[in-house]
Amino acid sequence: MLHFIDVILPIPVENLFTYEITEAESGFLKPGMRVAVPFGKTKVYTAIVKNTHHNPPTVYEAKQIHQILDEYPIVTDIQLKLWDWMANYYLCTVGDVMRAALPNAFILESETLISKNTKQIINDSDLKDDEFLIYEALHHQSSLRIQDIVDIVDKKQVFPIIKRLLEKGAIVVEEEVFEKYKPKLVKYVKLKEQHTTSEGLKILMEELSRAPKQRDVVMSLFQLTAKTKKPIKVSELAEASGASSSIIKSLFDKSVLDEYFIQTDRVSYDGEAVEASKSLNVAQTEALAQIQHSFESHQVTLLHGVTSSGKTEVYVKLIEAVLKTGKQVLYLLPEIALTTQLVTRLQNYFGDQVAVFHSKYSAHERVEVWNNVLSNSEKAQVILGARSSVFLPFKSLGLIIVDEEHEQSFKQFDPAPRYHARDTAVVLAHLHGTKTVLGSATPSLESYFNVQQGKYGLVEITKRYNDVLMPKIELVDIKDKQKRKLMKGHFSDRMIEVMTETLEEGHQIILFQNRRGFSPIVECKTCGHSPQCPNCDVSLTYHSYRNQLRCHYCGYNMAMQLKCQACGDTALDSKGFGTEQIEEEVKTLFPNYKSGRMDLDTTRGKYGYEKIITAFEQQEMDILVGTQMLTKGLDFRNVALVGIMNADNLLNFPDFRAHERSYQLLSQVSGRAGRTEKQGQVLIQTYNPYHNILQQVSTNNYAAMYKEQMDDRYNFKYPPVYRLIKITLKHKDFNRVNIASQWLGKALRQVFGDYVLGPEDPPVSRIRNLFHKNILIKVPQKQSLGGTKKAIVRINNSFNSVKDFRSVRLVVNVDAY
Ligand code: ADP
Ligand code: ZN
Repeated sequence: MLHFIDVILPIPVENLFTYEITEAESGFLKPGMRVAVPFGKTKVYTAIVKNTHHNPPTVYEAKQIHQILDEYPIVTDIQLKLWDWMANYYLCTVGDVMRAALPNAFILESETLISKNTKQIINDSDLKDDEFLIYEALHHQSSLRIQDIVDIVDKKQVFPIIKRLLEKGAIVVEEEVFEKYKPKLVKYVKLKEQHTTSEGLKILMEELSRAPKQRDVVMSLFQLTAKTKKPIKVSELAEASGASSSIIKSLFDKSVLDEYFIQTDRVSYDGEAVEASKSLNVAQTEALAQIQHSFESHQVTLLHGVTSSGKTEVYVKLIEAVLKTGKQVLYLLPEIALTTQLVTRLQNYFGDQVAVFHSKYSAHERVEVWNNVLSNSEKAQVILGARSSVFLPFKSLGLIIVDEEHEQSFKQFDPAPRYHARDTAVVLAHLHGTKTVLGSATPSLESYFNVQQGKYGLVEITKRYNDVLMPKIELVDIKDKQKRKLMKGHFSDRMIEVMTETLEEGHQIILFQNRRGFSPIVECKTCGHSPQCPNCDVSLTYHSYRNQLRCHYCGYNMAMQLKCQACGDTALDSKGFGTEQIEEEVKTLFPNYKSGRMDLDTTRGKYGYEKIITAFEQQEMDILVGTQMLTKGLDFRNVALVGIMNADNLLNFPDFRAHERSYQLLSQVSGRAGRTEKQGQVLIQTYNPYHNILQQVSTNNYAAMYKEQMDDRYNFKYPPVYRLIKITLKHKDFNRVNIASQWLGKALRQVFGDYVLGPEDPPVSRIRNLFHKNILIKVPQKQSLGGTKKAIVRINNSFNSVKDFRSVRLVVNVDAY
């Protein structure tokens, strides 16, 4: 009897491929194991076994596999099911999903680069002949492809050799470098407890009367504390007192001064034990009970709790309960780079049981987490990760938490699979027979809609923890301010006034400037020309820190021009304003305070976010200017004011979700103000103070926002009432993409009628030299989604069979919002 396997290849081909195996191999191979297989004339791929059987393929002759790469499955049955669901739902191939799911290091393939491991010295005598040949070749060439290796050893089966070389530490496989981030611990200084009473201080001053230099240091510490009301660094104390480090050290030795670190103290700031979870207040306790109750009737429960209501602590209790049953928990977050705060918090509660899955991890680290999750290791009981962690090989999942579920970054736009991690998580939980909790202060309309439809349970917390008041939100009419000449640059007199008060009280400020729509564009005052990207249909934006003009789509850049390229005039003006410009203005307005900036430019480095967040937490800056990045669940204790420089460019963004997103963003940024004691303050500058969304934000009225937005969605047939599938066509020839999109639009219209919109030019219609056209398909709730997709696939296939269109790229995006 013949034996075969069907395998998934990590490439976008529609079908599984069948290979022949021996009887012995068939007894050994199980679904989820990797095999190396030949493909095409010369290629070798790592494939995943889907199933074994006895039926030879009918249209081609099955080849034999090269090699079995695993001794046990590295992909679970549930994962294989999830992959199928994703391919099906998001209209892509299982190969696309496999490539996204597996750590790169698991997929050796023809394109993989092998290079020498320079960190290890290898004795030639430790290598077998074949291995030596390859190792030798790497002395002369910095890297080799699999095909090169096949040529060198003149053998087809090279994977075992590569594997052995890897195990001996002789080579590395296409690996990124990655160092672990260690938060910087800044040393701060204060008086020892016993000297802080007036009695204690008197005694101390007497004791020090014969050591005037030491006394001066203590006096300086006093003055500094009184002046800045902020933690004092040792270096500041040294500077202010003019004392040498040995004098300061002697005060530490004498137990006059005490040192402390803010980073480590953060979580136990209030003096609670580091290990035990917090006991919940009444609202939290109730929410916890309601969630557990909701689990009995719903797969998914939405926890709608205002910012700083203590949702995280509720999750912690849920996690504790699941861990007791020996099951794993997946905690999904929008962007892991932004969440050092939460990582620390969870590690304080759950210690080593927390594993973090990070897109910036090296291939090696990703494999390590993968293996720990797969073996249900003690080290991987709580997995904290961004969207791609839905791909991990969970053994027994007991709960999924999706925090900040409204966040857009849960959706992957490119490449395929264009999946939404929240929705995928719900499916994953279902496959594991467990529950999902979605949490947000500003739920997405689709999740709230699911609640209204009875699909999801709902639990609410309407008050902040400790009864801290919601921030007071004030709208500032900048049209009026401009008329009355009360603006300094982009700052209204009111903004400056409140900022001044806040700084004088020793509190910190966050200023928010929307990333979109306000990139500074250079324009010639004489002829109006502004420099364009040669590859994309957009103006270049000005970056003053490098004095460059850059394209945000393709990265093209050039030095800032001294003269207009069109007319030669030197009168160039930069229009619009970004975070950079705001920070410049802040420095001029408040020269005595320190400011910082958090945006794409300043966080580019590996630990960019963490560094800025830590510095701001440690109050090394008074004012932080930032973009969208500031909104994501950050918990700063000393921020009393949040200023929004301009709300209008958010509201006017051409997208059907612009209003919903504005509400979410503005509420979330506002939520960073006054999280601990005093009521925080928020100023929103706008030309439109009567805009409904701004009114709803300032009264914290989610229900009104939901109702009004849903009316629009019904009327204009948009999600969540209708589903949305977007097809993008791309080609370098404008005419071709034009004709092709007309053809496709017509074909789709024959099936879906008026539910097809377009083809239309997207806001940026040429990117990286490719012209884009969009077609939207709206799917009513009662129309079968499966049937709709089948029709789309069929039409796309006939599209691809038109010779002229074959070179046009078709990108299908399901739930493209
Ligand atoms: P959310 O996630 O809803 O924005 P957090 O969970 O971050 O809110 O809580 C806000 C703040 O209140 C945090 O600083 C947290 O440490 C504190 N907090 C919340 N619940 C408790 C509790 N039960 N006991 C002590 N502190 C709490
Ligand atoms: Zn460009």
